[in-house]
Amino acid sequence: MNDFTNLLVEIRHLNNCPEGFLPLHAPVFSGQEREYVLDAIDSTYVSSVGAYVDRFEAMLRDITGAGWAVACVNGTAALQVALVLAGVKPGDLVITQALSFVATANAIRHAGAEPVFLDVEVDTLGLAPSALRTFLENSAEKKADGCRHRDSGRRIAACVPMHTFGFPCRVDELIAICQEWSIPLVEDAAEALGSLYKGRPCGRFGRLGTFSFNGNKVVTTGGGGAIITDDEELGVRAKHVTTTAKRPHRWEFYHDEVAWNFRLPNLNAALGCAQLERLDDFVACKRDLAARYQRLFAETPWCFLVEPANSRALYWLCAVLFRDRTERDAFLVASNDAGIMTRPVWEPLSTLPGFAECLRGDLPVTLDIADRLVNLPSGVRPG
Ligand SMILES: *Cc1c(COP(=O)(O)O)cnc(C)c1O
Repeated sequence: MNDFTNLLVEIRHLNNCPEGFLPLHAPVFSGQEREYVLDAIDSTYVSSVGAYVDRFEAMLRDITGAGWAVACVNGTAALQVALVLAGVKPGDLVITQALSFVATANAIRHAGAEPVFLDVEVDTLGLAPSALRTFLENSAEKKADGCRHRDSGRRIAACVPMHTFGFPCRVDELIAICQEWSIPLVEDAAEALGSLYKGRPCGRFGRLGTFSFNGNKVVTTGGGGAIITDDEELGVRAKHVTTTAKRPHRWEFYHDEVAWNFRLPNLNAALGCAQLERLDDFVACKRDLAARYQRLFAETPWCFLVEPANSRALYWLCAVLFRDRTERDAFLVASNDAGIMTRPVWEPLSTLPGFAECLRGDLPVTLDIADRLVNLPSGVRPG
């Protein structure tokens, strides 16, 4: 049996938390958060219009370089709308990775489509280009109206890779394959605000990209999300359909299509503006923590996951691979018993009851990682 005592002392030490509960990830509100939220309250604009929403969207455009940014109620809603805007229709298939948070698959389903789960690669934890190519070559055919799944005849309407824990996936290779097959790519960048791949921000590669600002993400609006795109038509439509498709008018209620009320409230955007002002600091702290974990785990038999080649990762959640499930479980028990919050990665989406019937490729890497990976405390620590 491994004795994790010394390792746990070191983990506390490098998180600047000698005693008490050490969370996996807690938000830090040490900037203008209080001031902006109180200002939003004083203005009475706490709901779906207000200056902070516009400012939050402008800040997102600035940070990502995207032409359009549309704030939404949460990341799941943002991804659902992005898929519909990319052309996903009820009955379509959408390719994604089996290793992701359930929101990715939920958003596909909410758009009326069925996910197809493919494998990830071990060095990025993102959708494997080889798995995508193999699936398409074996199971798809090109038709006049796009790509179809050969056996079912269903349209393969989109591909949604996810940048796991902020590690950029090989999104340029995925896009090249998708282009060959006329499949639009939508990035689930919920975990990757602040990560760069080949110098370009995650979320900027696909036709649309989406973020989440849930309480556990690198910056939070309490709950929130956003869609970014460089396509003007899609950007304008994203705003329109997330705000009840109301034609601008001083008093008339004319809505020109069936649409959503998915707009981020101004109160949440106020919190978000203050948080985005801190993004660079947060990323620097997280990268520093990751570098210390890397040195710590270099002395152990376990593998701390480092950013993939050609990338600069924000290290949203730090992760380590144990040698097998038994060893992983022993570490989960020892760390959580000691007040250090750690957790395994998500159950592969292909094994969840709501998605058990979905098409899938071979998933050896996903299943192996699901047995061995543990997320370590990764928050920005005060002090
Ligand atoms: C957080 C997250 C989302 C969106 O979650 P919300 O809670 O709806 O904001 C989507 N995909 C992934 C991979 C996530 O981690």
